[in-house]
Amino acid sequence: MIINQHTELFGVVGYPVNHSLSPTMQNAAFSESGLNAVYLAFETRDIGGCLKGMKALGIRGMSVTIPHKSAVIPLLDEVDGLAKRIGAVNTIINDEGRLIGYNTDAPAALKALEESTEVSGKTCLIIGAGGAARAIGFILRERGVHLTIANRTAARGEDLANSLGCAYVPLKELEVVETDLLVQTTPVGMYPKDEQCIISPGALKERTVVMDIIYNPFETRLLRIATARGCLTINGLGMFIHQGAEQFRLWTGLKPPIAAITRAVEMALTSAK
Ligand code: NAP
Repeated sequence: MIINQHTELFGVVGYPVNHSLSPTMQNAAFSESGLNAVYLAFETRDIGGCLKGMKALGIRGMSVTIPHKSAVIPLLDEVDGLAKRIGAVNTIINDEGRLIGYNTDAPAALKALEESTEVSGKTCLIIGAGGAARAIGFILRERGVHLTIANRTAARGEDLANSLGCAYVPLKELEVVETDLLVQTTPVGMYPKDEQCIISPGALKERTVVMDIIYNPFETRLLRIATARGCLTINGLGMFIHQGAEQFRLWTGLKPPIAAITRAVEMALTSAK
């Protein structure tokens, strides 16, 4: 790889970002597509300063992660309709000095689900009420899915349920919820605490399709239990790959090299253990 005066710069901004696999994914995509571009991780709490830097230095694109996805919105020149409705931006394009925000998490989750199952008209229980749950809730609602939100903290769960116009149930009442789809969006079960599971096995019904958006490990304890009960399962890798692939497409206008980026992310996850 040659870095020279023509190299274009992209990155991810967040706090912390040292766990992020986005540099691995996007640099694999640039390299596979023969682009003279690099993607770096920028760990900062100063999102305003980051945006000024993007403009001043001509940084072409930025991924946005925790804790900046909502705070960045009023600082941008333009925000795409879906990102505005969700209230979260995870992608910024620098269009000749105008910073435009998008949300690729939501369509990526929908795509990952629809690769395995039909969602329109189905019922869906979303566990969690954070940023990911919010993005997934909005796009599923737009797809005609009947939602229920479950969350550890009632106030946050009820707040998201109110925004989505749907019901809220406490985590301990999950056993009584009949649902076609279950989408797990909390960090419970993530490496290294991968023996944890957010719900008891008895709460899973055989015909439920279960998606866990955690991608490290690929198969969480929840997904192992679901598989043992005969449920169709979907891991978080598809969502992660699709959100990054769509960022690459927005920044470059090129078709994302899905196979190469999947290989790079899988290798990074496997070798990190
Ligand atoms: P977030 O905004 O911080 O929300 C976290 C949610 O998890 C909240 O609802 C929180 O409940 C709940 N939670 C946290 N710890 C819990 C515990 N010990 N027991 C029960 N509930 C707990 O985070 P986020 O951005 O939504 O991300 C959540 C997870 O999704 C992370 O693991 C992240 O890596 C993953 N993710 C994956 C993708 C992908 O592409 N596959 C994309 C985005 C995020 P309270 O309200 O009670 O605190």
